[in-house]
Amino acid sequence: MSAITNHMPTAELQALDAAHHMHPFTTNDALETRGARVITRAEGVYLTDSEGNSILDGMAGLWCMNIGYGRKEMAEVAARQMMELPYYNTFFMTTHVPAIALSQEIAKLTPGDLNHVFFASSGSEANDTNIRMVRTYWAEKGHPGKSHIISRKNAYHGSSVGSGSLGGMSFMHAQGGLPIPGIHHINQPDWWGEGGEMSPQDFGIARARELENKILELGEDKVAAFIAEPVQGAGGVIVPPDSYWPEIQRICDAYDILLIADEVICGFGRTGTWFGSETMGVRPHIMTIAKGLSSGYQPIGGSVVCDEVAEVIGATEFNHGYTYSGHPVAAAVAMENLRILQEEKIVDRVGSIGAPALKAGLEQLVDHPLVGGLSIKGMMASLPLTPHKESRAKFAAEPGTVGYICRERCFANNLVMRHVGDRMIVSPPLVIEPEDIDVLVARARRALDETYTELKRQDLLKAAA
Ligand SMILES: *Cc1c(COP(=O)(O)O)cnc(C)c1O
Repeated sequence: MSAITNHMPTAELQALDAAHHMHPFTTNDALETRGARVITRAEGVYLTDSEGNSILDGMAGLWCMNIGYGRKEMAEVAARQMMELPYYNTFFMTTHVPAIALSQEIAKLTPGDLNHVFFASSGSEANDTNIRMVRTYWAEKGHPGKSHIISRKNAYHGSSVGSGSLGGMSFMHAQGGLPIPGIHHINQPDWWGEGGEMSPQDFGIARARELENKILELGEDKVAAFIAEPVQGAGGVIVPPDSYWPEIQRICDAYDILLIADEVICGFGRTGTWFGSETMGVRPHIMTIAKGLSSGYQPIGGSVVCDEVAEVIGATEFNHGYTYSGHPVAAAVAMENLRILQEEKIVDRVGSIGAPALKAGLEQLVDHPLVGGLSIKGMMASLPLTPHKESRAKFAAEPGTVGYICRERCFANNLVMRHVGDRMIVSPPLVIEPEDIDVLVARARRALDETYTELKRQDLLKAAA
């Protein structure tokens, strides 16, 4: 299994990787001059690379490794399921026990009457399902014109044509003809970056009212749904002001539109409760789930749908599905993940121990000259970097220049932190222990100090005009 890893020097692996492997969200040519870091194994919250370095994973893989690496039960369940039934589909009036068990378990865990699951293998696929599902819902109810979907700038909902259109990342829309028609984007509730002189609470209300204005502009009879992450993840861990979600809920209640909560990151404990919708106090009609559903041990996602929407969709043939919808191995592994999360009280521990410890740790970094603040909810956090704290100034350099330098200094200090523009992101496995949070903070401080030195050297400590 690990023959390649064990017998090839890192440089050779990197050369092969650059020659044949096209990486996502990467300038692939850059891999030829500077090889990718080769990760060979992982245990708990630590990764090991091909040079034997032990790296603290402050990003939980890509926001997904909730229960931590190396859980043998997960491998055993996968092996058992592969022996018993490695694959069967759920099309054409067939089903199997793993899909039955997992959908029931998800229905139990999700709030309200979110009782029905349409499976996919990823968050992107699940959001594509959602586009077709909400449009089909309104068409079946006799309102085929209610087809427009409102989302937000700088949202992330996936990278397929549909989900990438729902997302509001302009650099993604710039390639490949996105967005598809009928998707609209309002501004995000990013007070730190865009709030100017307004108070956070006034700003939260103002940004929520943009939804109402957009509904009125398009016409209530044209709008199918609003989609949002309870807390934006890939956009830079943007925790909305407290005033934002209650106002969004009021608007969704006042107008006849469906609310889709994209819980791909927030779901399964990340924000300190089971779902971000609970943390933020919202009642979605549909939830998108993936990532933490299986802690990344298998690719699986889905749409969790309320009774009323499921009933309307269920009355017709919904001409949609994926070969691997409800894949038995992925479903069995997800089921084991949910067992571990519940029996080991991992979500409760995030609320009572993990999140307060992470907050206390990261707060120590706020006095650093480069750190402009701390945005945190549960176990997802960001530290915006700034040349001038008081004014929340942005750097004169191209956005992301400073964040990239800091990410490289983190890597060099055996810490994975991601950068989104000039914000540094922390989102560790939920099982991280307080002593490892101390390691994380110490490595992050060293990386910030080195970043500061490097910015001075390159004369980059300048604010944008
Ligand atoms: C990662 C992510 C997705 C896309 O999930 P994939 O499994 O990468 O397709 C969708 N929504 C949110 C909020 C995400 O963070």
